[in-house]
This record gives sequence, C-alpha cells and structure tokens, in this order.
Amino acid sequence: MEQLLLHNLRIIDPFGEREFLEHASILIENETIKFVGRGFSHVGFDGQILDMQGKTVLPGIINAHTHLYSTLAMGMHPPQKSPKNFVEHLEEVWWKLDRGLDKASTRASFEAGLMDCIQNGTTTIIDHHASPLFVDGSLDLLGTVAESFGVNISLCFECSDRNGEANFKDELMENIRAIKKYASNPYISPRLGLHASFTLSDKSLEMVSTQLKDFPDCGIHIHVAEDLADEKDAQTRGYRSVIQRLDDYKLLSNQSLIIHGIFMTREDRHILLKHGCKLVHNPTSNANNQVGVLETEIIESLNPGLGTDGMQNNLLKEAKEGTLVRAATESLPVDYLELLFQNNPDIALKIFGKLVGHIEEEAQADLVFYDYDPRTELTADNFSGHLLFGLGQPTDVMTRGTFRMRNKQLVGKDETRIRETARKQSKRLWSAMKAL
Ligand SMILES: [Zn+2]
Repeated sequence: MEQLLLHNLRIIDPFGEREFLEHASILIENETIKFVGRGFSHVGFDGQILDMQGKTVLPGIINAHTHLYSTLAMGMHPPQKSPKNFVEHLEEVWWKLDRGLDKASTRASFEAGLMDCIQNGTTTIIDHHASPLFVDGSLDLLGTVAESFGVNISLCFECSDRNGEANFKDELMENIRAIKKYASNPYISPRLGLHASFTLSDKSLEMVSTQLKDFPDCGIHIHVAEDLADEKDAQTRGYRSVIQRLDDYKLLSNQSLIIHGIFMTREDRHILLKHGCKLVHNPTSNANNQVGVLETEIIESLNPGLGTDGMQNNLLKEAKEGTLVRAATESLPVDYLELLFQNNPDIALKIFGKLVGHIEEEAQADLVFYDYDPRTELTADNFSGHLLFGLGQPTDVMTRGTFRMRNKQLVGKDETRIRETARKQSKRLWSAMKAL
C-alpha cells in the first residue's frame, strides 16, 4: 500500500465536511484520501511525507458541461456572414467548426483542452463532443487522451439530424459503443449525447429511446431551451415544451443531464424534479450568446451544476463572471460557489458513482494547490471572496494521489509540443471551415 502524507496545508473545501482548516495534513493511500485534519501522528508512519509549505489546497474542480472539441476556436476569424440570431450563430460558427474537425485536429483539441484543464485545476470534465466527419472512434480517442492526463471524464457524442440520417445513426452507435466499452471503467463514464431537441426528429428520438432501454444506468446529456427557438420548434411539432417532448419519449431519468434550460416552464421544472434530472447552468456562454439569464427561481428549485460550455476551463473564473453577469443584468444574486463546490460534486457522484470534488475521507485524492499569500486576512468567514477574486492559477495538481502538475509544469507531458501541434491544427481547421 502506498501512503503519502501532505502536511503544512491550508484546506478550503467549500460545502465540504471541513470548509476551512489551517496547518492541516492530508493522508492519501493509493488513490484515496484517508485522513484530513490537524494532529496526524507521525509515530510509526513509514510512508512518504511532503511539506507543502503552507500552500492552499482546494478539491479537484469539476466542469459539469463543456465541449473540448471547441478548444481551437480561440482567436478564430469571425464568420463571413454575420449571424442574426442564435440558430444562425450555430450554423455559421459552431456547426462549421465541428464539421471542420478530422482525427488530427480533434486530437489536438482534446490534448490542448485537457492541458488547459489541468493548468486551471479542473480534474473532472463532463464533455459533450461533436465532430460529424470523424465519428467512429472519436470517443475512444477522447477516452485515451483523458486517461493520459489522469482526469475523470464523462464523454458522449452529440447525436443530431443536422448532417443527415446516416450520420445520426453513426453518432448514436458511437455513443452505444462507448457506453458498452467503458461500462466498468471508474474514470470514464459515458452518457448518451443528444445535440438539442430542435435538431432531432421524432423518428430519431424514438431510436434513441429504444437504444437507451438497454442501459438503465446511463442517461442522456442534451442542450435544452438554450434559446426560444428550441421551445418553438417543440411546440410546432405538437408538444407543450422540449422537456415534455423528451419525457414523452421516456428519455428522462435521474441520470439525465439537462443543459441550460433558460426557457423552461414551471411544468418543465416539475418534470425534472419528478425524474431527478440534473440541470447545468453555463452563465458566460449564455451571456455570450445573448440568450438571457437563468431565473433565480429555477436555480433555487433545481440546484444546477456549473459548466462552461466550452468558454473556458477555469471554473473559479466562471463562478466570478457568472456573479458579475447577474449583477450587470440586475438579476437576483446566486452563490456560484454553491453550484461549483456543492452541486457539481453531487452530479459527479451520480455519474461516476464515487466521491470527487471534496477533501474528505474516502474521496478520490484529486487536489489543487495554490501558492497564495493573501493581501487581506483569509479566514473561515471570508474565503469565498478570496476564491472568486484572489486565488489565481494553481501551482500543483494531483489526481488519484499522483501529481499531474508540479511547480506549474505538467508531469510527463510535453507542453511545447502540445501547443505547437494545436497551433498547426487550428490553422488547418480554420481553413477547412472556410471551405464549408
Ligand atoms: Zn453546450
């Protein structure tokens, strides 16, 4: 049994068993935390001891919804035709980007994206993938790359009719193959990905429903009511709402991940509560797409998780920016740290069936360390302000008891090569998009 004692730490685990603890130690056995607190007796301890020199440690951070495939969009030229609404924005930007991806650019997106996750302390990623011209094997590639970074990943391929029936079937089968392949993998937990109700016909939803019956432990992962266009489409098809449509096809369960939900009705909320579905809120993406601000009442009743929808990999920044977006739009305030540090670990527990995102006994040893010398007093009463406005970038990141980043250097990864490859592949991707 391998034992590692980390001592001389300031622990901050918001909404955890011990929210704030100074001069503390963490004992790790293999991949699991076995002791957290002060006064660990070194007598008879023959494992490795590491002095963490007063660093601040947070639990490994969870991103409850993102798109690693969009990693190479940074700095991309604006579309030739300016989008006038949400659906045109998808058509002109994101549906060109996903169709521009081949195996090499998809791999570069995963590698550069996951490197950025580790550098920002994000160690559990719930991803929603699309590369319609590279379907077969795309989820295996994501699984392999994620495993090389030591993260937990929930993966799925977003099925859609937008590239034709044959493509939809391939995408559905890619999900099913991954669900079977990773059924007993503790670090990789597939969902069944669907793009959104408005790009899926009744026939396609029927096929999804038939397939899903064989996998009662696996739920769907789908964008819902991100824009009013999604709701209008469902109504045109004869349903009261998107949620009601998904419910009619028996696609909702306590394993479902529902993303956005901006235009959901009160009845929709009740359906989600009845099934125990999890909602994920992505404030910076909603602001960027100008689709509106998620109502405080929805947040209070459904306890959503926090995602970034591909906008960034730093969830503390997402929490800060979410707070500011609400302030700017005069919406009622929301405690985004609760979404991040309470609701996200709850979602991860459902998906992975294990405790991650907390620093407590029997949790997976995923830890993020910061060299933080605060310019104001930091106490149990005011750490929230330091998390949102002070902490900066981590220096060290550990998953499963193994350092993945030490002194800001990734362990066992060639950062220069990953960045060079990503730059080269982004040029290829952007020129492929121009031809679409
Ligand atoms: Zn999304």
